[in-house]
Amino acid sequence: MNAISPADLAGLRSEVAGPVLTPDDAGYTQELSTFNLAVTHAPLVAVGAQSPADVQAAVRFATAHNLPVAVLSAGHGSSVSSAGSVLITTRRLSGLTVDENARTARVEAGVRWAELIERTGKLGLGALNGSSPTVSVIGYTLGGGLGPFGRRYGYAADHVWSLDVVTADGELRHVTADGDPDLFWALRGAKGNFGVVVAMEFTLFPIASFYGGGLFLPGELAAKALHLFREWVAGLPEEMTASVCLLSLPPAPFVPEPLRGRRVVHLRFAYLGDAAEGARLVEPFRRLGEPIIDAVTELPYAAVAAVHNDPVDPMPIVEQATLLRELPAEAVDTFLRFAADERSPLVMAELRHLGGALGRPPAIPNAVGNREAAFTVFAAAVGGPEDAPRLHAYEEAFVNALKPWSTGRRYANFMFAGDTDPETVALAYPDDSFRRLRDLKHRFDPANTFRINHNIVAGDTREL
Ligand SMILES: Cc1cc2nc3c(=O)[nH]c(=O)nc-3n(C[C@H](O)[C@H](O)[C@H](O)COP(=O)(O)OP(=O)(O)OC[C@H]3O[C@@H](n4cnc5c(N)ncnc54)[C@H](O)[C@@H]3O)c2cc1C
Repeated sequence: MNAISPADLAGLRSEVAGPVLTPDDAGYTQELSTFNLAVTHAPLVAVGAQSPADVQAAVRFATAHNLPVAVLSAGHGSSVSSAGSVLITTRRLSGLTVDENARTARVEAGVRWAELIERTGKLGLGALNGSSPTVSVIGYTLGGGLGPFGRRYGYAADHVWSLDVVTADGELRHVTADGDPDLFWALRGAKGNFGVVVAMEFTLFPIASFYGGGLFLPGELAAKALHLFREWVAGLPEEMTASVCLLSLPPAPFVPEPLRGRRVVHLRFAYLGDAAEGARLVEPFRRLGEPIIDAVTELPYAAVAAVHNDPVDPMPIVEQATLLRELPAEAVDTFLRFAADERSPLVMAELRHLGGALGRPPAIPNAVGNREAAFTVFAAAVGGPEDAPRLHAYEEAFVNALKPWSTGRRYANFMFAGDTDPETVALAYPDDSFRRLRDLKHRFDPANTFRINHNIVAGDTREL
């Protein structure tokens, strides 16, 4: 591991306005705080960027010292150890502007969804946020961005029209479809492989309100609810995006009282249309049995986080996921066998319905691929390092059992700590896209400075 000399460190500090922290400095650990405690950070130096110029200085320093660059934004998607790296934290890059008339927003890299939702919600405008309000807007969008309005509008990355990025040469580039079509294509889908994105502009939508929220049923109805879901999605309008999740909730204060310590079925709906029609669509699930909580109603966009009700407090999560091309009854039975069993260690087993605009290429192509998938499956368990191998093995067995119906591919944002080997990373992209990404990596990051991620290794297509 390269060490950094005191003189070099002093040089970096003189160029950066934000904090530059080594393990010896107070504030180092706090600077590295993250959401998923299963992957903690221990870089050689942490640079708390206050401006794009700070990011440029940190990247130039890293390349000059032949060190990798890691990026820590909201900490929901860390994948590999950042030991030995120059880690850039983005939380101080907090700029957020909304142009109500043009229906656009510009966010800097530290902005989280909650801030954007609050701002645009007041204006009767919505965006393509994901399930969790505490994820960073940019970190989410660079991996695609699959959210509650996905079937109607597609991936968040499909509606980005400019990115300001610091590339491996330390340059700050304003990247658009016309100015730099290759980099523009790659950045929207290939996550942090091509640089540190410091700002992004994207389209907002006229979503003042929607019919949706969460319907919680007793766990005993899991089989009925999942089989109904399977039949119900056939012919569903694109205005409806829905998912179903089996939850095993702890008896903790953050869990609403009636759900505490229980196994429950959580149905999530977001319908962009008439509320009466939304209620008609949801009705079959209400008829399944007495809900524990029925919070499906007409909601303002500002309440969109209530659709999934994701946890907001940090915890050690062991995750796995797969994509399905179809969901026959046998696949549902397999899902139930792993997720509804009393002995299952999973706290969450989720099935999201895709299709609609998520299944179509965007107006300006991007690196978000594998759009043929009809469903995502996501499994999560909570446990520290001593439990992780057992939990991971259970999740592997779960997704392997679903293989007969899997597309064999992955969704970039649902790639986790165990998915960083090159063969698995390749699964996040169609073959032709992956070849193009490797070529572009060669062009934009030949030394693989940005490798503390689900790494796309530079190469040219003749090697494949
Ligand atoms: C509770 C929870 C709910 C989620 N829900 C959804 C969902 O509904 N839909 C969905 O699509 N995804 C979802 N995700 C996945 C999430 O979108 C990704 O993990 C995303 O990368 C997290 O971004 P972050 O900034 O919060 O995480 P971080 O851990 O800070 O960043 C993760 C990685 O993203 C890259 N990155 C982040 N910011 C930048 C930047 N500015 N420039 C370059 N690279 C960057 C880096 O490679 C970094 O290592 C969820 C994750 C969690 C934990």
